[in-house]
Amino acid sequence: MNYPYVLVLLVPVAFILGWLASRRMGAKRSGAEVSELSSDYFRGLNYLLNEEQDKAIEVFLKLAEYNRDTVETHLALGNLFRRRGEVDRAIRLHQHLVSRPGLSDAMKTVALLELGEDYMRAGLLDRAEALFSDLVAMDAHAPSALRHLIAIYQHERDWHKAIEHTRRLEVMTGEDEASMKAQFFCELADRARQHGARGEARDYLRQAFECQPDCVRAFMLTGRLQSEDDRHADAVVAYEAAVNADIAFTPEILPPLLNSYARSQQMDRAESFLREMLSRYHGISPVLALAHIYRQRDGERAAIDFLTSQLRQRPSVRGLMALIDATMDKIEGEARENFLILRDLTKKLLEGQAMYRCSRCGFGAKAHHWQCPSCKSWGTIRPIHGVASE
Ligand SMILES: [Zn+2]
Repeated sequence: MNYPYVLVLLVPVAFILGWLASRRMGAKRSGAEVSELSSDYFRGLNYLLNEEQDKAIEVFLKLAEYNRDTVETHLALGNLFRRRGEVDRAIRLHQHLVSRPGLSDAMKTVALLELGEDYMRAGLLDRAEALFSDLVAMDAHAPSALRHLIAIYQHERDWHKAIEHTRRLEVMTGEDEASMKAQFFCELADRARQHGARGEARDYLRQAFECQPDCVRAFMLTGRLQSEDDRHADAVVAYEAAVNADIAFTPEILPPLLNSYARSQQMDRAESFLREMLSRYHGISPVLALAHIYRQRDGERAAIDFLTSQLRQRPSVRGLMALIDATMDKIEGEARENFLILRDLTKKLLEGQAMYRCSRCGFGAKAHHWQCPSCKSWGTIRPIHGVASE
């Protein structure tokens, strides 16, 4: 029998022994007190599960009063205070717990981890950073502490430290965080680009691709760099690669891609790429782009015919808006007045719409963010597909 298997078998044995020991200890107290304690505990737990935090706190305070040695009860209370936004109370409780003499090392580090979370919630990031760094150095709850540190460095936009700690987390847990690291390198690349350090920006992009070869954001940034260097044909290649890497980002990629097609005078290539996209992408953006190309090349009639045929297959308010705009010039008198009202209403309908949504937490946004402002996930905010959006 191999060693880990023996350990697995030992877990239930240890559990049963612990249960017997607690029964023996309980027997020394009066029976009434014990049953009251456990019924209080389950009542508190029940309130917690029902999200009735006020009542849960009341019960746990009473429990903590009964038995001042119960560290778990204090930890549950502190957690509750923090979740309710009573961060000061949570900090006081956890500080008190940490400084308590005779507390086991295991419990002390749990309390320190909780205290670090309190500091984060209170915005005391320096204190939280110091505490989590200590826990990592002690190798106590290191993966959790590292995750909190990475969150702090993201908040402070210290991407170098974020990358360094993500690497440590990967080594420690064996988990793959490549796409998150690629985003950090993209942040560094974009910052370098904005400061005119173009060589540095390219170097960071190379590292982003090393982490994640199909990183859509890195392709988009490459396109942007090429375009700013007047290398529009190269920009086209990068932006097309971005569409192929993740077609969901089409509404973000198409405007600069169309600009690069025009600047490199490759409108035939634009038409065939967009035509090919229609079969595998069901949003309205490529339709609008093609309508624009047909208007410039073949005139308004061709654009209107194309739009009308496409709108039957993919109903879209933005498509309707484009059709109204294209038709407006040809209408006069009372009908034109009605058309203006229709145009106005359509515009208002579009204005109130969230165009993007986080696939992880459901956060809705009008503009695109690479990191979700709500759940802090990377690359999860995507264009919404529907009649009133993409
Ligand atoms: Zn989110």
